[in-house]
Amino acid sequence: MLKTTIPSIGPARPEATARPALSVVVPAFDEQEVLPEFHRRLAAAMDAIGLSWEVVYVNDGSRDATLAVMLALRAADPRVAVVNLSRNFGKEIALTAGLDHARGSEAVVVIDADLQDPPEVIADLVAAWREGVDVAYAQRRVRHGEGLIKRATAAAFYRLMQRIGGRVTLPKDTGDFRLMSRRAVDALLTLREQHRFMKGLFAWVGFPSRAVLYDRAPRAAGRTKWNWWKLWNLSLEGITSFTVAPLKVATYLGLLTAAIALVYGTVVVVKTLLFGNPVAGYPSLMTVMLFLGGVQLITLGIIGEYLGRVFNETKGRPLYLVERHLPSEPPSTGAAAGDQPAERAALGRVA
Ligand code: UDP
Ligand code: MG
Repeated sequence: MLKTTIPSIGPARPEATARPALSVVVPAFDEQEVLPEFHRRLAAAMDAIGLSWEVVYVNDGSRDATLAVMLALRAADPRVAVVNLSRNFGKEIALTAGLDHARGSEAVVVIDADLQDPPEVIADLVAAWREGVDVAYAQRRVRHGEGLIKRATAAAFYRLMQRIGGRVTLPKDTGDFRLMSRRAVDALLTLREQHRFMKGLFAWVGFPSRAVLYDRAPRAAGRTKWNWWKLWNLSLEGITSFTVAPLKVATYLGLLTAAIALVYGTVVVVKTLLFGNPVAGYPSLMTVMLFLGGVQLITLGIIGEYLGRVFNETKGRPLYLVERHLPSEPPSTGAAAGDQPAERAALGRVA
């Protein structure tokens, strides 16, 4: 079990010498209030694990002083890397930018900046990873500070995805908070699609995975950037980038209406033959017309959703643009991750 997860980039390679063992990737958009406290808790939690680490803060075009806070953190702590995107690209892409710039040679942790994902849970994720899984994802036990409606819709969404997902299944109550081994990250980074539904991409990559239960805390400060419209769009994104099942709906709706039309047509013909044709039926005509018009527009819309995504992918634009990248400083040992006896022991994975 352990052997299969030995990283492809080992201490023998010279370019690996300056790499920390773990990277923590943190996308942040307007998080100036919470970042200092986040970093304090993260550093404490990471130091307790005993592996060399870095944290990659991605500033996703924040409108407040988030970048300045990040730079201050980096000035005080050499383990901080900062990636400043040229504008706001959205969480999914900011996350990808962070993963691209994460240098952790053994594993990468993805976590939100708002302290809803407690940094202390990372130790549990690392423990699960040490037992040999490639992906340890944090699964929410309860959702504090989230309304009944949000919880209900989230549950409904996961159920829907589960049913239409086919081979790839989304673990429920799981966000982006997770640890991935280096090879899982490398696999994930080969997926360069523009429409990035990260939960779907994580699931698509596969690899041995395990859930680690945790309690999701309410936001520590600042406000969530999600609103209902954004959540609706995220669900659409999830469904359309995950499955083409909705396209088949058109086929079956068509078959169903054709069958109903056949039956109704027969009824009309028989009625006319038996009782003559007293030109009536305006209401039924209107109903059928409106219904069919509606069905056609909906199915056109579904096709449009997919076509739009094809259009966006064919443009082949880069996922994001980096305004500046300030890497973390190499681990002070100057040795590769897992090279020092103490660290090799702490890794616990290298036989
Ligand atoms: N985020 C981001 N870009 C955005 C929106 C959000 O990088 O356009 C970050 C945000 O700073 C936070 C994480 O993504 O670290 C989760 O965002 P949020 O807390 O608003 O989402 P929720 O927890 O409500 O799902
Ligand atoms: Mg949040």
